[in-house]
Amino acid sequence: MKRLAGWKSWLLTLAAALLPLDVPASPTGEQPAGVIASGTPSATPYYVRDSGVTGPTVVITGGVHGNEPAGAYAADQIRHWPITRGKLIIVPRANVVALKADKRNIPGEPVEVANLNRNFPKASEKESPRGALALALWEFVQRQKPAWCVDLHEGSDFNAMTGKSVGSSVIAFPTPDDKAVALAIQTAVNANITNQNHRFTLRGPPVDGSLARAAGEHLGAHAMILETTSKSQALSVRARQHRIMVHVLLNHLGMIDGSVTPELMTSRVPPITPVPRLAVYDDGGTGGVGAARIVEQVGRQPGTVVVRVCGDDIRAGALGQFNVIAVPGGSGSKEAATIGEDGRDRIRKFVENGGGYIGICAGAYLATSGFSWGLRILDAKTVSPKWDRGHAMVKLELTDQGRRILGNIQGTFDCKYANGPILCPAHVESLPDYEPLAFFRTEVAEHNAPPGIMVNSPAIVAGRCGKGRVVVSSPHPEQTKGLEEFIPRAVAWVTDRASIAEKTNAR
Ligand SMILES: [Zn+2]
Repeated sequence: MKRLAGWKSWLLTLAAALLPLDVPASPTGEQPAGVIASGTPSATPYYVRDSGVTGPTVVITGGVHGNEPAGAYAADQIRHWPITRGKLIIVPRANVVALKADKRNIPGEPVEVANLNRNFPKASEKESPRGALALALWEFVQRQKPAWCVDLHEGSDFNAMTGKSVGSSVIAFPTPDDKAVALAIQTAVNANITNQNHRFTLRGPPVDGSLARAAGEHLGAHAMILETTSKSQALSVRARQHRIMVHVLLNHLGMIDGSVTPELMTSRVPPITPVPRLAVYDDGGTGGVGAARIVEQVGRQPGTVVVRVCGDDIRAGALGQFNVIAVPGGSGSKEAATIGEDGRDRIRKFVENGGGYIGICAGAYLATSGFSWGLRILDAKTVSPKWDRGHAMVKLELTDQGRRILGNIQGTFDCKYANGPILCPAHVESLPDYEPLAFFRTEVAEHNAPPGIMVNSPAIVAGRCGKGRVVVSSPHPEQTKGLEEFIPRAVAWVTDRASIAEKTNAR
């Protein structure tokens, strides 16, 4: 989330700041309609999707608390949903300074006004909002005359298990209408949660001084706070829960049609050129900083779309919005278990139909053909069942094709290694042979792993599966200083940008 709150949001804020304030609503939700708190460090864009058809106005806010990125992440996805009735107004990053700092409170503000979600007019008082940001947000929300205000948050722990956090709860006003919608939201979001302790609770009313409470008390709006839980859940899982909940409300209000599903995370506008639209799997089985590094490194390339996805997203068909998926390190078998058999079938079909696959370490194991849980999109298996070879910096050397795809590095160079697969051909008839892009030139063989099999074996390989391209890396270039371009270049190759550029140049 720091990445999203970093250069991307800075670019968006810059783009928004350059627009005049009376820019009409963008029908695609691509461009901000304006900026709140313009000219201040808290300046933040808002998006308007106006159906042009009479109906309710719904205001959705995310990122009011800066250490709760899921609401901001989900709101930034929901702004792409086409609206068929009424008007949807979205403020994805209400508290940009706190989001950038990854802090609940606004950095640098006196303690009594630091918690933005206590600064809105209290229920019993006719006072003004406290602090400049609350004032700017409150004036903005007031002007919209919203029928509904929905504020997306996340707690630190599951409310069903502890009274100490409101994580995973729907917090609504105790009016019959609000309660009925809250119950429908709770039922929908709980439908796929098998762990009883992780199920959403119903609570209310929203805490005094919160944006939702103030909107309910003083603007006569229906209002609720939707809370997911950051503990032990990937960002993609939490964002999905927010999308499911907002989807129920917009459906209830007749504002979306059947073409909008909770899986919709990106613009439907087809890209003019085949720029990468990358789904990064960050759910069960992943570990460490791999997913974050991929998001950061590929997200730097102008025009790319990079979105984190979970197992439920994949099983629900979310890959249709992307042209490449990346699976980072962790445990291949655990990743396979979370993605599930149906999800693995979907990834295989995605690649067969022309999608790209990038696998690093565990994601490389996952691509292979030697395990019952493997994707079988690469004609490779592991040389030895012994995977626990150890962690070390090892030497790699690129092949000629490796230099074409990954960058022109001559001679050997260092790369971080952490129990990645040692690959050899699996001789699967339906798959063409893989092509090495880099070889290991040194090896690690700890914990009684067989020595001698790693040195001079392929470290990074490219393959084809149906119409799709696959690149897997046993070591971790995404976590090695100086190799930050490897994964963006691999992504470009599997999305075929390079060959399209070559064709264009040849004309
Ligand atoms: Zn919060």
